[in-house]
Amino acid sequence: MGDKVLTVCPYCGSGCQMFLKVEDGQVVGAEPADGRTNEGNLCLKGHYGWDFLNDPQLLTARLRKPMIRKEGVLKEVSWDEAIQFTADKLAEIKEKYGPDAIMGTGSARGPGNEANYVMQKFMRAVIGTNNIDHCARVCHGPSVAGLTYSLGDGAMSNSIPEIEDTDLLLIVGYNAPVTHPIVARRIVKAKQKGATMIVADPRKTELARLADTWLPLKGGTNMALINAFGHVLIEESLYDKEYVSSHVEGFAEYKSGVQKYTPEYAESITGVRAADIRKTMRQYAKSGKAMILYGMGVCQFAQAVDVVKGLASLALLTGNLGRPGVGIGPVRGQNNVQGSCDMGALPNVYPGYQSVTDEKIRKKFEEAWGVPLPDKTGYRLTEVPHLILKENKIKAYYIFGEDPVQSDPNAAELREALDQLELVIVQDIFMNKTALHADVILPATSWGEHDGVYSSADRGFQRIRKAVEPPEFVKPDWQIISELSTAMGYPMAYSNSEEIWDEMRSLCPTFAGASYSKMEALGGVQWPCPSDDHPGTPYLYKGNRFTTPSGKGRLYACEWRAPQEQPDAEYPLTLSTVREVGHYSVRTMTGNCRALSRLSDEPGNIQMNPEDAAALGIRNGQLVRVYSRRGNVAARAQLSDRVKAGATYMTYHFWIGACNELTADDLDPVSKTPEYKYCAIRIEPIADQ
Ligand code: SF4
Repeated sequence: MGDKVLTVCPYCGSGCQMFLKVEDGQVVGAEPADGRTNEGNLCLKGHYGWDFLNDPQLLTARLRKPMIRKEGVLKEVSWDEAIQFTADKLAEIKEKYGPDAIMGTGSARGPGNEANYVMQKFMRAVIGTNNIDHCARVCHGPSVAGLTYSLGDGAMSNSIPEIEDTDLLLIVGYNAPVTHPIVARRIVKAKQKGATMIVADPRKTELARLADTWLPLKGGTNMALINAFGHVLIEESLYDKEYVSSHVEGFAEYKSGVQKYTPEYAESITGVRAADIRKTMRQYAKSGKAMILYGMGVCQFAQAVDVVKGLASLALLTGNLGRPGVGIGPVRGQNNVQGSCDMGALPNVYPGYQSVTDEKIRKKFEEAWGVPLPDKTGYRLTEVPHLILKENKIKAYYIFGEDPVQSDPNAAELREALDQLELVIVQDIFMNKTALHADVILPATSWGEHDGVYSSADRGFQRIRKAVEPPEFVKPDWQIISELSTAMGYPMAYSNSEEIWDEMRSLCPTFAGASYSKMEALGGVQWPCPSDDHPGTPYLYKGNRFTTPSGKGRLYACEWRAPQEQPDAEYPLTLSTVREVGHYSVRTMTGNCRALSRLSDEPGNIQMNPEDAAALGIRNGQLVRVYSRRGNVAARAQLSDRVKAGATYMTYHFWIGACNELTADDLDPVSKTPEYKYCAIRIEPIADQ
């Protein structure tokens, strides 16, 4: 008989608990556990996404020994040599150019919260810079910035299980059946229980097909639609006047900001019928319990932070906060992107969202860590190519559990930037596109091979557990970083992940009571959890006490701006990046998973409208070449009338036909999140051989 090890699925922020079944030291299966968010269910990635852990056919792809580039070639070396070489090079670069010439990342994927805590501590206390960021920058960065401004906390105000008990769901730019299948299950249950579902999305997504009302807005027009929603709430006196006067500020400015966005004016921009805009807000305001859910269709535009604030304003105007079954939910995509933010793998905050520019807080961390700390905000991930190529400011890049050449926009520019650096360190589990540019490769343990904590999308800390022994020479991420730190003269001597977690809790009032033992006893703990006797917090802002400086929610409206790159005669179509259900992120894990690769594999598809395809002489399934101003890739045409004429969609997972060769690096001015959802392209058929 084998063992069953309770852990958490690593493939999205739903935070599904599961058992890994282990026999003779190998994972042989997975089955659902009765977790808070999944209640005995898993999607296909949870069921089948484990075989990369022990598939002997994949030995070549797994990183098994440290490597250093010597005379242009990556060569296997001992851990001692790899650590000493990396420590010496980092010290040399710090000495020559200063600490801010070094950039580091956290990882929102397999490593877990403890490794992220140690990484940000290494960058701050050992290197001496706040240049630490991670891939939240390219996804829900606008949610962190926008919701912190509007409500106080940059996270889901509600819980995943509450979704099924709401009366109305307003879903914007979010296709849960593909990104979070277990959240989608809650959405379907809500509808079965009688909730109204309204979906705003340019594509007729799986959720749009199930919706009571589908608002098929043009890509890049979110702000105009949200402003019109606010206009209707005020013009038709649908907003909660008592709630607004007691708990909300900025009403007069907001009212004047949305004044010109009549439904008719918004229709001229968005293409959504004015009557549907009015009907949506009448239903939203009168439903009793209404919840907003949104995803990348909000965040991956160059006007994303404004739109997040606009969505929060709708909840504030109608008093849909501070109770169960209401609120606003940015449903975080990657399994631990909430956790990497919680742990301070961000350039402006320490763990627990404590500002690096607040002197009192900085002193607290200086005393705990025993060194002076930098007082200015660090660089953001998406600024890195420009800082290398145009400003010559970064000389070393420590990339931990990410593959930016696959995930970040304008891949050619990023490759050029990486090749100009004096030192690229890649710490990961498999060889990836970024590792091809590395000077040092540090092989780490995978999910299933180490202990720790993940944070689900709804602020839920849950334990992950080691199920099998890792390959002989790989080490846990926190141990690699600790050894590097010690070699650089700042000893770190943690003996397990719980010691790291307890140090983190001692410095973070919001997480102080979320001990391993409490997670064991309760199955998980949702923050805030400020003390040992606190059970955790399913929904935020109880009693309508917001965590903004004034304690009130802040309304916000601003002018709609069109996306930055528009189609023209040479590039007449638009491209948006999307996901598909069988794969996860840059496919470091699922692309090395035999079962999931059988479902879909290279090259990626490009979804397009049949009318556009006919005009270009393209058949369904035909190979095409897709061009943008930045590059070109091959893809397979997938024709669908669920896509509007003029628009196209590509999944970002695939290594061949990687759509980030095409995407633009135009950024939101506040969060610096790229406009992945809109750039101009042209498509040419590849002649049949
Ligand atoms: Fe894993 Fe997400 Fe699927 Fe749950 S919904 S099993 S967390 S991929």
